[in-house]
Parts: sequence; C-alpha cells; structure tokens
Amino acid sequence: MKTTARRGYVVLLLVLAVAVGMSVLAVRFATNGEKWATLRANEHLNENGSFIAAGNITDRNGELLAYTENEKRIYSDSERVRRSTLHIVGDTEGYIASGVQTAYKTRLTGYNPVTGIYSLKKHGRGNDVILTIDSQVSAVAYDKLNGRKGVVAAYNYKTGELLCSVSSPNYDIENKPSAEEINNNKDGKYEGVYLNRLIDGLYTPGSTFKIITTASAIENISDISSWKYTCKGEMLVNGVKVTCPRVHGEMDFEECFANSCNCAYAQLALKTGKENIIATAEEFGFGQTFDFGNSQTKASILDLSQADDGDLAWAGVGQYNTLVNPYHMLTVLGAVANDGTAVLPYTVASVTTPSGYVVEETTAQTRAYISAEIADAVKSMMRNNVKIKYGDGNFEGLSMCGKTGTAEISDNQTPHSWFMGFSDNPQCPVAIVVVVENGGWGSSAALPVASDVMEAIYKSLA
Ligand SMILES: [Zn+2]
Repeated sequence: MKTTARRGYVVLLLVLAVAVGMSVLAVRFATNGEKWATLRANEHLNENGSFIAAGNITDRNGELLAYTENEKRIYSDSERVRRSTLHIVGDTEGYIASGVQTAYKTRLTGYNPVTGIYSLKKHGRGNDVILTIDSQVSAVAYDKLNGRKGVVAAYNYKTGELLCSVSSPNYDIENKPSAEEINNNKDGKYEGVYLNRLIDGLYTPGSTFKIITTASAIENISDISSWKYTCKGEMLVNGVKVTCPRVHGEMDFEECFANSCNCAYAQLALKTGKENIIATAEEFGFGQTFDFGNSQTKASILDLSQADDGDLAWAGVGQYNTLVNPYHMLTVLGAVANDGTAVLPYTVASVTTPSGYVVEETTAQTRAYISAEIADAVKSMMRNNVKIKYGDGNFEGLSMCGKTGTAEISDNQTPHSWFMGFSDNPQCPVAIVVVVENGGWGSSAALPVASDVMEAIYKSLA
C-alpha cells in the first residue's frame, strides 16, 4: 500500500520541531520524565500496552470503532461490530500483527520520530485513522458466518476500498478470553485466532481455480468457443481417476464451467498444457505478495514442477497441491471485473489530526494481470454461471458474476466451501470472496453468505 505524505505539512512540522518542538520537549521532559520512562518506546503506551492518548479509529461512515477515554481504550458498543472488525482494528498488545492499532501505532499515538510528541501536545491525543470498512456490513458478514471458521471479504474493485473483512475465529476485545483459554483450547475453537485469514490464510481453491483454467484455455486454445465435451462422470488420466459428482453429458465450454465439470476441466488442463497453465496463473499474480498495512499477504502457490498428467488434470480442477490466499483471490476477481487490471484492496483511507487535517492518504495501487479481452470472456462465463446455476434471485439487481468451489482437503474432513464473485452493476462495483472452512458444498454454505453480504453492501451504497 502506498501512502502519500502531505509535503507541506511535513515541512511545517520540521520547522516547528526546530523552533518550538525541541524546547517543548526539553521542558516536558524535565517535568514528565519520570512518567515517560514507564512508556514503552516512548510511544505513549503504558505498561499494559493500552493507548493512553491514542486517536480514534472510525469506519467509512464515521462510526467509532476504537477511541481513548480517561486513558482507557474503548471499542464499538456492539459486540457484533467489535468481533467482525477485530482483525482490521487489531489489539493494543500487538498479537494481531496486521491490525491497524499495531500497523499504525505511531500515527495513532501521535508519536513522530522527527517532531516528538507534537500532535499529542497540540491536540491532547494522537491522530485519527479513517478506515474504508463499513462496520454494519461487517456485522452482517459476522452474523452469516455464524461461528464457523473462515473469511468474508468484499471490496470496491474500481477504487480498492475494502468494505468488509471478517476473519473467524475471532473474540470480543472487550471480553478477551484468557491466554490459557486461547492456547489450550482442545477443540480448536481459537485456532489461528490472531491471524487475519484474509491476508495470512492459504486454502485449497477447489473449483474456484477453474477461473484460472478457463482464462488459460481462452488464451491458448484457438477453437475453444466450438469445443465440446461429453462427461461420463469419471475419466482416467495416466492411471489417475478424475471424478464428477454426477454424469454431466455433452456440454459446450460455457456449460462445462457452469456445471463445474471436473472431467471437462481435467481435459482442458491437459489440452492447454502445463506451461500455459503456469504462465496464466503467474499473469494472475500467483507467487506474488501484496502489502497490507505493515504486513504482507501470503502468496498463492501453484507448483507443477513435479506434476505428471494425472496431477495436471487435478490441478486444472483446483485439487492438486495448489494453495491460494483470499486477498489474492479478491485481486483476481478485481482484474476479471475491471478489464484485466486489479486495483489492490486497502483499508486505511486516511490519517488525520483531531482537527481534521489530513496527514496522509492512501492512493490505491494497481496490477495489470490479463488483457481486457480475456477478462471480458471470463466475466461473461461467470455471469452465465449465476444466470443459469446459482440464480439471479440470490443477487437481486447486481448482475452478479461468480464461481463456487467445494475444496476437498482430506478424506476425513468436510470440504471448505467457497464463493468468489462480483457485481457487474456499475452502481455496485464490488467483488466478494467467502470461504467457510469445512462448510461443505460451495453452493450450500459460502454462496448464501455472499448473497446476504452483497445485498447489505448494495443497500449501503444506494
Ligand atoms: Zn462432469
């Protein structure tokens, strides 16, 4: 994420640092030296790590998500909002490393290595951080996950603003479970609770990977539009059996995608070729990391170096050793929706002084993945999926484009349920990724979550 400092303001601060700041510091150090000595790294933290004079964190509508009163950090009065924004707002102890309270700690506390405590001295508190997140939409996403582990993230693919990012498991920051409870919980209730699964998660993609296979087939098979395939429910590749949940029969390319036919996509992967599949995945950002606050996302991994034809067949279906990161998958959707170029999601809109002066503002970055022609062809097939399979009734008024996934992870575990999609309605240029861990079918667990969250977003933008 690239942030732009307002040069004029920086210069002003430098002048003040010389003319006023140093003498103020000297005087204050003499009078408050003892108190400051208890502050960790002189960043206005007390011994417990709570921010004694930190600024506010607000959502995109100005709703307070965190603020300090009487030297105590206070969070939203809604538990749903506190839980759903936990990983974005973060904690004051730094367990949630990618959270804003850790990543933007020096801004929030008003500490500046050059100017010392200027902001705190002048305003009585540090800077405010304004997020792109909509806390009410986040609360809806939290409700719909209903305690299941996973991720719900949605962003404006034209501007890069992250509107919702809910990671589960989470906890209520106002009633944090004890370390004992978190670390020794036998049923895995708090597994990876400090991680924001949007940026730290790596999941088997299942059929959502067919978006990549589809793009590669369009790019590399010249007669793909007249290609047909007859599914018999299973096929053998190099002694490896690829199976479908049912016999799909004869289909054209678009129907193979809509039916998510594994046999057809195994055949397509072989026909497209290993090198071409790898090249398309790399174009789409596989192997790349992205900056998020002071953290970096996990890179999605497609490693076909040891793959024979049987492995390649399953890779085309999203079931080889491939692992994908949900933030990266949002950018894949962003590129398909936006003529091949992804605007990268970010969550801090700006940092301002308490009087509203903008100290820094985020400028969205972009990455060009694929051509507009390929993007449009994939988009039209994803639109067809919703029209003929998932139902426009689940996404009223949104011209939704999408792909479900049911990612097999091991023989004795229920698959992860995926939905990836975006609205093609210019009034709601929003892409969404939902992963419900061990949720079962993509259409039965993740899709209904996406449906309700997209509806909430559409209403919020109206
Ligand atoms: Zn099939």
